[in-house]
Amino acid sequence: MTVTYTPAEPIWCAGCGHYGVQNYLERALDELAIPPHQVMIPAGIGCSGSIQNNVSAYGYHALHGRVLPAAIGMALANPDLTVIAAGGDGDAYAIGAGHLLHTFKRNPSLAYIVMNNGTYGLTKGQESPTAAVTRNDFTEQAIDAIGLGLSIPGTTFLARGFTRWGDQLLRLTKAALEHARAKRGFAFLEVLSPCVTYNDTYPLWEATLHDVDSDPDYDPTDRVAAFGCLTRSAAEGRMVGGLIYHGGGATMESAWLSDRHDAPALQDVDPARHAEAYRKIMTSYAVSG
Ligand code: SF4
Ligand code: MG
Repeated sequence: MTVTYTPAEPIWCAGCGHYGVQNYLERALDELAIPPHQVMIPAGIGCSGSIQNNVSAYGYHALHGRVLPAAIGMALANPDLTVIAAGGDGDAYAIGAGHLLHTFKRNPSLAYIVMNNGTYGLTKGQESPTAAVTRNDFTEQAIDAIGLGLSIPGTTFLARGFTRWGDQLLRLTKAALEHARAKRGFAFLEVLSPCVTYNDTYPLWEATLHDVDSDPDYDPTDRVAAFGCLTRSAAEGRMVGGLIYHGGGATMESAWLSDRHDAPALQDVDPARHAEAYRKIMTSYAVSG
């Protein structure tokens, strides 16, 4: 394979779940034979965001919470790229929450891997939007992004993996990349990726995650059933994992790209022809004397 640049060594703490995310992402890219020069990884701010430094692919470090608008622009500009946005739960569900809602709504063909650890690890362990926080007798409930995605008609791929469950995480990562590459829309994969330094949730998630992939009666094409499963599990204090919803629907690029105009990166750029067109436009504005 052609390597586009030399990846950096990860700087995560020993035992951080993000190593697992990177490992299974690299294996998925390898097993799907996606060459590095066709992969673009825009990433958010936080420990997780440095994943774009570590993988043999193009990378981009977005402004905090703004990874999705950048990723959508990349996917529309060059449909030949496999765009894999990545980041943490703080970046995705706090400052970036508005962009996430609208990306669910628009269904652009790209993958988004959110590393959920219930904390802001980079800034030393404050609670993130996926942490339930109790102060006195009031509990601020955690956000479940899969439930958010299910509530928006038009979402097409919603899955949750866990870095300790490697076989499943590899399968879900490959499925997400295939969904995006097949131009079926927005592949949203949340990965439970514990922060061992500030919020070690390995034992909790190991004990409580409800894995729908191991239920032969679960139908991931049934949105209503998925909602029911999430709601029942939440009442028991459990999150749902696995391929939770997989459907079809129109994509953003079907509205924004047309047969008449190639995507910007695929256009035949001819400086001489464009200079001539520019000269004609300027001439048409000239005041004739
Ligand atoms: Fe991972 Fe937490 Fe260390 Fe950040 S602080 S690298 S999230 S273990
Ligand atoms: Mg986090």
